[in-house]
Amino acid sequence: MGVWFFSRWLCAGLLLLAAAAMPSGARAAAGTPLDVCIARVAPGDTPAAMFAAPGRFNCATPQTRFGAGDYWILSQPLPGGTRRGAVRSGSVWQDRLDLWVRHADGTLDHQFVTSATTHENLRLGAMIEFFFRPGGSPVTRVLWRTQGSVNLRGVLLGARLMSHGDSANQEVVSGMLYAAFGGMCLALLVYNLALWAALRQRFQPAYCFLLLCLLGYAISSSGALGQWTGMDNNLRLRLNAVLLAASGIAAILFARAFFERPVFNRTLRRASTIAMAAVGATSLCYSVLAPWHMGLFDRGISYSFLMLVSVAPWVLWRAWRCRSAYLLLFALAWGVPIAVAGLRIAAALNLIGWSFWVDNSTLLSMALEALLTSLAVSYRILLLSRERDEAREQEIAARLLADTDPLTGLLNRRAFLRDAIGREGEQSLLLVDVDHFKRVNETIGHDGGDEVLRIVARTLRQVAGAGALIARLGGEEFAVLKPFREAADGEELLASLRAARMPFDLTVTASAGACIGPLESEVDWKHLYHHADRALFEAKKAGRDRARSAARSLLAAA
Ligand code: GH3
Ligand code: MG
Ligand code: MG
Repeated sequence: MGVWFFSRWLCAGLLLLAAAAMPSGARAAAGTPLDVCIARVAPGDTPAAMFAAPGRFNCATPQTRFGAGDYWILSQPLPGGTRRGAVRSGSVWQDRLDLWVRHADGTLDHQFVTSATTHENLRLGAMIEFFFRPGGSPVTRVLWRTQGSVNLRGVLLGARLMSHGDSANQEVVSGMLYAAFGGMCLALLVYNLALWAALRQRFQPAYCFLLLCLLGYAISSSGALGQWTGMDNNLRLRLNAVLLAASGIAAILFARAFFERPVFNRTLRRASTIAMAAVGATSLCYSVLAPWHMGLFDRGISYSFLMLVSVAPWVLWRAWRCRSAYLLLFALAWGVPIAVAGLRIAAALNLIGWSFWVDNSTLLSMALEALLTSLAVSYRILLLSRERDEAREQEIAARLLADTDPLTGLLNRRAFLRDAIGREGEQSLLLVDVDHFKRVNETIGHDGGDEVLRIVARTLRQVAGAGALIARLGGEEFAVLKPFREAADGEELLASLRAARMPFDLTVTASAGACIGPLESEVDWKHLYHHADRALFEAKKAGRDRARSAARSLLAAA
């Protein structure tokens, strides 16, 4: 019930997220993309000279071919009449980014950020934005200069001309999107922690760790962390690498804890450990040593993530082979993030160009993954609770089987003693033995004898009433135990047996021996049984079909 309520809630969340994402997509496409050309910075270059020499710029060669260094980046001429607005570009590793804005009257405006001050110009989606100074003549062209660029994906990425409205809307919509993602992560985190307190399943802390990593990565990679804390931008990029690696590792750890044990056989376990170690090591080197050999470690991260991502289809194949109950949900949950991770790796290896969507797709796919994984978790919990219910039922059935006499359904000797010994207060024990039962068997056969035993048991149950402990001690001997004050009357019991309708209208009688005494220990039981048995013997000796009680004096003497 709870699971279905939760899954409906999840679907609603998914729709909400999709709704939030769509206008953001439209906004990302809003603004005007700017073509840019680049030139290596040479000694003595000035911005004015660079504006005056567009021929020095290379517009055809992919930026990444030029390697690390300092670069001028010249925009295409801006549409006529551009007075207000801003230019944006994706945040990349660099020491400093300058912007010169050339106006129609020939004046130049200059702004810059360093890695330490980038946060002042950082927008959600990790874009660096420079606003044009208001009040000047129209802007004709802009020129950037980057210093200390490592140029892994390019020197200046995704340059766009934005109006004030575009910029503000983009920020609001991105804010909503990230807030929805963050809220969802937090809700899932709290929910799963609470469940963990109750269920203590291995995969639950792993899932919470995954959520924490995703949340951390979303906050850091979106630029929100820079906005809030004023963190150095290159430091934020180091942190991104660590958090992305942690998310990848957490996803594998979660899968390992989540699937049924046989899915991760030794080979798969070892392969996934190697992939995790590779991702961890390369990311750590990248983030600690950057910008030293950054390109090398960046490629290392891409290839190790490729290893990590290729573990996923392997896991799904193993899950299919092992007939895992979670295959479908996992395939759904992981499908999109794996495709997106593939895209990102392709972008990282410069097989496809940089785009805002590839750069930010991780968030959406992770949202989807977190939601669907949460469904998988719910499903897993449903199966667990079913398993538990079944186990409990089986346990009850097994205990019942072990405690009862199969022929009559009464307690057997072992269960009777377990329940009888330790009772407080005086107890009355009545032993009942069918008379000449051998003859009954001889007369109506063994099956008939069994039926007689069943009828005797039923009669004892009816007459002894509630609160009586009734057992078949063996053969055709029964015991009825009651508290002394509610003791069953032996004669009345025998009369009922005599009157009971037996197979072939046979008349069956029994003899009874009673005794009263404490029953707090094994020793008490031995006394009580001994005297009741002796009374029974007396009854048999006196001609059967009667009850005898052990004299109290006899008990006292014992
Ligand atoms: P008494 O009046 O002295 O008690 O004589 P009895 O024949 O009842 O006593 P005895 O102990 O000599 O015989 C008991 C018989 O009960 C022997 C055995 O074959 C029979 N019996 C024991 N268990 C079962 C059972 O489960 N089903 C049937 N049909 N007979 C049983
Ligand atoms: Mg008998
Ligand atoms: Mg007997």
